[in-house]
Amino acid sequence: MINDASSAAFERAQALLPGGVNSPVRAFRGVGGVPRFIDHGAGAYLYDIDGNQYIDYVLSWGPLILGHAYPAVVEAICAQAQRGTSFGAPTELESELAELVIAAVPSVEMVRFVSSGTEATMSAIRLARAYTQREKIIKFEGCYHGHADPFLVQAGSGVATLGLPDSPGVLKSATSNTLTAAFNDLEAVEALFKNNTGQVAALVIEPVAGNMGFVLPREGYLAGLRQLCDQHGALLIFDEVMTGFRVAYGGAQAYFNVMPDLTCLGKVVGGGLPAAAYGGRREIMQQVAPAGTMYQAGTLSGNPLAMVAGIVTLREIAKPEVFERLTGVTSTLCQGFWKAAFKNGIPFQAHKAGSMWGFFFAGDEVYDFTSAKKADTAMFGKFFHAMLEQGVYLAPSQFEAAFVSTAHTDELVAQTINAAQAAFASIRG
Ligand code: PMP
Repeated sequence: MINDASSAAFERAQALLPGGVNSPVRAFRGVGGVPRFIDHGAGAYLYDIDGNQYIDYVLSWGPLILGHAYPAVVEAICAQAQRGTSFGAPTELESELAELVIAAVPSVEMVRFVSSGTEATMSAIRLARAYTQREKIIKFEGCYHGHADPFLVQAGSGVATLGLPDSPGVLKSATSNTLTAAFNDLEAVEALFKNNTGQVAALVIEPVAGNMGFVLPREGYLAGLRQLCDQHGALLIFDEVMTGFRVAYGGAQAYFNVMPDLTCLGKVVGGGLPAAAYGGRREIMQQVAPAGTMYQAGTLSGNPLAMVAGIVTLREIAKPEVFERLTGVTSTLCQGFWKAAFKNGIPFQAHKAGSMWGFFFAGDEVYDFTSAKKADTAMFGKFFHAMLEQGVYLAPSQFEAAFVSTAHTDELVAQTINAAQAAFASIRG
């Protein structure tokens, strides 16, 4: 595979942008090699500037549930662009998307749109602190909630890939109210609540973790957290930026039937454009300015291009047959990968929920960040490159999840599994 154009583009970018990128994991630091510079996408495919074609399982890190350049989404964006791209004044589009979100996500009664997942989680904890008049939050090791200061403690995603300590520049005072526990460990959370009686505003969790690799909550774990929050008067916040409209149309809360007080959304809700949201019970959301006193704002919040992309996307995936198919395709991939690894005697596991999935080069059960970090990242790197060479684009890190879109046909899935079989065989020795 020729990468001359990507290599040259990367050289140029490195002189202009820190690490040559605008978000760390894109730089391939976790796996080595040259990041592919993208020319365009179409359906399930990505095309780089050397003309190589890849079946894409990153899908812009989750948003593109309909695949790249889905015609109805593109048409809606173009039509809206003709009418103006931003007004800084309300439009009916915001209410239209809000109605779709509220109808889809069971615990959400009212919603505020923002432009990134980071803003959504940052605002949700501000709101929880305002509502409860408490200061501490509980987060989980290996969970990533964007790059706002209070969350950069034991964070997953790029922080985990680069093996960074908690980021310099984040003041101790910004994280001194952030308590952490191991994912899937209910007793640890119970202990935190007991040692901080009456002080915990909220517990924030990725209900299915996708930023330490893909890790499912154990049976009853989320319900246990719900109970602990109720017992201790803290709000339960599900960060569904990744899982929302992904593991099910109603998100992880619908999938596991556990209702949070606040929900953070992003990725799919903006249909590939910059939109995110936080929402929840009306009584809590009414504290957000200007209805209430908790301040949060945004020049491009509720951006009309992002709203129409979100509206069209949610309407398309609301059709019941869509999730049925997505779930089936994702199962086939997981089973195919697992079988192919087993055949080649490679310690491996693959898991999924809805159209989100992931795998570890690890024989023992992965259930938290510590067990995830035992995975063989060197072997992952070899596998990643062997897949890339065969035209399959996976996230360039062991500590990320994978996604499927409606454009991933059975043929493409079969092709991907064949590639995995060849990749496992090639890295075996
Ligand atoms: N929360 C979760 C669960 C995420 O996966 C991400 C991004 N991958 C974020 C928050 C931050 O979103 P953004 O990158 O849009 O700021």
